[in-house]
Amino acid sequence: MEFRVLTAEFSHETNTFCRVATDKQAFMDGFVRLGDEAIAARRQANTELAGFLDVGDAHGWRIEHVLSAAAGPSGKVSRAAFEWLCDPIVAAAGRGRFDGILLALHGAMVLDFREDGDGEILRRIRAACGEETPIACTLDPHANVSRQMCSLADILVSFRTYPHIDMRDTGRRTGEILHRTMAGEIAPHTIRVSLPMLEEANGGRTDVGPMIARLAAATEYERRADVFAVSINAGFASTDVAELGPTVLVTGQGDRDPHIAFAETLADDIWAKRHEVLNDYLTVETAAAVAAGYDPRTGPLVIADYADNPGAGAYGDSTALLGALLEAGVRDACFGPMVDGEVALALHRTEIGERVRVVLGGKTDASFGGGPLTVEGELLSISDGRFVGDGPILGGLSRTHGPSAVLLVDGIEILIVTIAKQILDLQQFETFGIEPERKRVIALKSMQHFRAAFGPIAGQVIVCDSGALCTLHYERLPYRNVPRPIFPLDPDMERPA
Ligand SMILES: [Zn+2]
Repeated sequence: MEFRVLTAEFSHETNTFCRVATDKQAFMDGFVRLGDEAIAARRQANTELAGFLDVGDAHGWRIEHVLSAAAGPSGKVSRAAFEWLCDPIVAAAGRGRFDGILLALHGAMVLDFREDGDGEILRRIRAACGEETPIACTLDPHANVSRQMCSLADILVSFRTYPHIDMRDTGRRTGEILHRTMAGEIAPHTIRVSLPMLEEANGGRTDVGPMIARLAAATEYERRADVFAVSINAGFASTDVAELGPTVLVTGQGDRDPHIAFAETLADDIWAKRHEVLNDYLTVETAAAVAAGYDPRTGPLVIADYADNPGAGAYGDSTALLGALLEAGVRDACFGPMVDGEVALALHRTEIGERVRVVLGGKTDASFGGGPLTVEGELLSISDGRFVGDGPILGGLSRTHGPSAVLLVDGIEILIVTIAKQILDLQQFETFGIEPERKRVIALKSMQHFRAAFGPIAGQVIVCDSGALCTLHYERLPYRNVPRPIFPLDPDMERPA
């Protein structure tokens, strides 16, 4: 039997504290591709869609792919942007008589008119396709999975890596579960256990720490005939909504009690290890001091500014770390990105090789990560900001930083961009003429994803908290909607029974 399957990718990780609203332009600055054009762009890369298509090819599905769209993490998604992208998916679902619907969502989308953005996508699709059509979703483990999402989708499967490098694999796993469901072999539903925490202690990192054992236990539990997927979500802390934080999901069938009991054992472990933080979050001054004394014989020192990660909705224009590096006289270094469209544009009107003085960064909200920095330097290059990734996450995918420039200031090559993006890939430096492997020090904005491409070239990795919007000092953020008590805002709380 030839199954007809509707597919779509629509994702956003919303930082509700971010002042920058997520409108249509924000999605266009990320990517919006329709139908076959999306397939052409994403078929050969590490994407959920590629995994869906792998399964579709193997089983001879007839796939109708509506669109693939994502914006960089930022503020709430506007109604206009949401409906622009959601409506075509809903319309197709309503037209279709599809045997199944297969979606790639993030799971932490918040709308300017509703908290549970992913739940709203599913609600509209479910209303259009009816109760009988199975809906399967892939999720990012930084999803804040709501009850509504679990009741509307039958199958929810999260990535198992952070840095995320298993998007295609997760697409395949999810597609296979959907196939068995459409074939009438299984009848899955998803149960959810949640924790009163903003996020898992290490944001769900899977390269080291307790998540490794949890995932091994999940894989073991998946050997049961009535279990199809176990997902462990770290949650996303920068979202001031009622349903946020870590969740454990079991997509299975039959008696729910053993699945809930198993999920509770993983949740207990997440709670028990809530104080076991693996990163040492240095101040920018300490990070700069380490950089000043660093011996690069085994490779460059990588300094990750955790707090100013545009990949979690920070502005990417914090100046605290750059200021500290300049102050400490760190040379033979690169720094990126500094998000400042104004300066990037001004540099596009400057001759290459010219010395210029600019007022750089710190313009969005100086109270998070420092105000503008006046620097003088030599313009090395300008560009339209386009690059094609070649690392484990972005390999083969085209992205843009918008109008960009590289300014050399006291021995530091600074990548100045218009469109905020975290550093995931060496090409985000190399395309613009910066050679990170030859530097003593690479300062970049990312929490954990940078390790996939930069770990292999680094002599040492350190992490700092510049005080930017994604600071670990959660008490600085105006949480109003999260349920209290919640860890770590209420550090001495007991976990409710
Ligand atoms: Zn994530």
